[in-house]
Amino acid sequence: MPLVNTKIKKQYTKAIKQLIKDFSRGPQTVVLVLPDLEVTCPNCLYNSLDKSSTGVFNTNFAAPVVVFTGTVNQRTINPTSFNRSRCPVCYGKGKLFAPVRQSIQAYSYWSPNAPSEDSDFRDIPAGRAPNNFVVVKINAENYRLLYKSTAAYVNGIYVEPWRPPIIRGLAGEKTLCLGWFTAVQGKDINTKY
Ligand SMILES: [Zn+2]
Repeated sequence: MPLVNTKIKKQYTKAIKQLIKDFSRGPQTVVLVLPDLEVTCPNCLYNSLDKSSTGVFNTNFAAPVVVFTGTVNQRTINPTSFNRSRCPVCYGKGKLFAPVRQSIQAYSYWSPNAPSEDSDFRDIPAGRAPNNFVVVKINAENYRLLYKSTAAYVNGIYVEPWRPPIIRGLAGEKTLCLGWFTAVQGKDINTKY
């Protein structure tokens, strides 16, 4: 009996072929859009039932505070009393939000249609894949990031998740994960990241 059976040999050859394909393309930078950071507005009283500002100044707020410390959105909020109904700091939302973007190195494949093109698309039932979809392949360590992302920019194009990412392994090692995204018409003009 041979030491390495045919099935394993085939899998290995397939994986190596794919690896060579990936390396020949080179990784690109994909920007993941992660859920916003949020803090309760220090300037007004929060209504947790309505999940918005009560429209009442927080009289306990006396000294400036720094929000989103250590991020690009770090800023100082100064107490700003107000009489009219809308808080000038959070504009009535009761919370302050900061967008979170994370750049990662990835391999991406737009609308791969032929199953032979890449073995990673074998999970997609024929005819089920939408147009304008992209598969993003990244290091398995970044699985959580990919899982949490609500959108992404691939080649500068705005895309949203089509299905949850999965992890793929080679010889029992978790090596990479795959995420599926689709381009969203009319949203790709928003390249603010
Ligand atoms: Zn406020």
